[in-house]
Amino acid sequence: MTSSRDDDGDPTASLGDDAAAAGRSADTQPVHGSADSPHGRRSTDSPPVRRLDDWNADRLRSLADEYGTPLYVLDVDRVQANYRRLAGAFPDAEIAYAAKANALVDLLRIVCANGATIECASAGEVYRAREAGIPGDRIRYTAVNPPERDLEYVVDAWKDDPTLTVTAGARDTVERLAALEYDGRLCLRVNPGVGAGHHENVRTGGDATFGIPAERLVETAHDAVERGFDLVGLHAHVGSGVLDADQREAHRRFVARVADLATEVVESVGSLEFVSVGGGFGVPYREDEPPLALDPVAETTHDAFADLDVCLSIEPGRYLVADAGVLLTEVNTVKETSATRVVGIDAGMTTLLRPALYDAYHALRSLDPDASDREPVPQTVAGPVCESSDVLCVDRPTPRFERGDVIAVGNAGAYGAEMANTYNSRPRPPTVVIDGSDSRLVRRRESLSDLTRLEAAAREGVAE
Ligand SMILES: *Cc1c(COP(=O)(O)O)cnc(C)c1O
Repeated sequence: MTSSRDDDGDPTASLGDDAAAAGRSADTQPVHGSADSPHGRRSTDSPPVRRLDDWNADRLRSLADEYGTPLYVLDVDRVQANYRRLAGAFPDAEIAYAAKANALVDLLRIVCANGATIECASAGEVYRAREAGIPGDRIRYTAVNPPERDLEYVVDAWKDDPTLTVTAGARDTVERLAALEYDGRLCLRVNPGVGAGHHENVRTGGDATFGIPAERLVETAHDAVERGFDLVGLHAHVGSGVLDADQREAHRRFVARVADLATEVVESVGSLEFVSVGGGFGVPYREDEPPLALDPVAETTHDAFADLDVCLSIEPGRYLVADAGVLLTEVNTVKETSATRVVGIDAGMTTLLRPALYDAYHALRSLDPDASDREPVPQTVAGPVCESSDVLCVDRPTPRFERGDVIAVGNAGAYGAEMANTYNSRPRPPTVVIDGSDSRLVRRRESLSDLTRLEAAAREGVAE
């Protein structure tokens, strides 16, 4: 099987002084931006949203010159500012970063140094967290229908470091963990029967796929305790992209329901260390959308759990990284047709899948110095894949894009690089991290030979 513990390094090594220092300095960083932001329970040091227009065009253009396009750019200062704002609104909660939004090892190390736990959705994400040197007590693994290979890897990781936590979303998963002789820290994922989110594909809270049916929860919890598991937590996830008032109302019903279920478990099985209410903190993708008002969401959550003696845990993914990242792409073709103006770019559904998958809106901006003088015209911006879903927008009025322009695509920090794929045999773009006035390449561009490497390995008889 795929146990690859030998190249994991030493996951039990703590984050070390660097990380601890970064955590401390995060709290003492100078305040910039508005200190009396209306959002966040305490004054925060950053505006609640960074729009695409707020990025420095010259700097982005020079990164595109240096590294080529397409290119993902991620600003770690913005990630940390988002983290501090959320931590300010939820001062007593544990923050577990959902790695699936962007699982770069560098990023996991940074959010962990700020105090976060890492919420992992696969063995691969657990592997990444361990590569980042994150100790087991800051790693949670929550998989949906976990492949056996994943469970085996995670159980091996647990043998190395018994402080990690596994979340099971089905009775079968509990039984399979027991069969692998796992009897460590266990959290149960419940299906609360209430969901919310920006698109039906991400409203997981009420979808039967996710979590133990609420009516089976207490029985499953009993069973787990009897089998010798260390039952420490209860988990539920409402969905992704909770932003507007309707979704916030669904969120209110959701946290109330989770609190009721937690109370039932505590009353019949015993105390719990934590209850996680998942992620789903929305970010505005459209320029005119207001940011999520964190305070009411925090207050509702806090109120729902007021009578329970548990640590509250939240699992932001997108909230921490979406507006910290942009995708840079170059215009290579402009075609005027009787129907529309088609702008061809070197990025598309293989680099940013969200528009094709969810019909998602991402802001677009030319970084050309003259771009702001150009008049808006309806434009369809299309990628290089021969599929009609390979478009970032259709007939969107935007200042005219010209061949050779570098275009910045907003909010690409979450579910951008992470969902990239090599369809059409297109190598995946590199990622550059901006860190203050420095920048560094944290993932190189895939090459054409990377595309055939695994086939070459198979020809040479390398099995894994
Ligand atoms: C996807 C996911 C998250 C994060 O969702 P966001 O919308 O990015 O905040 C958190 N928890 C679980 C279990 C998830 O599957």
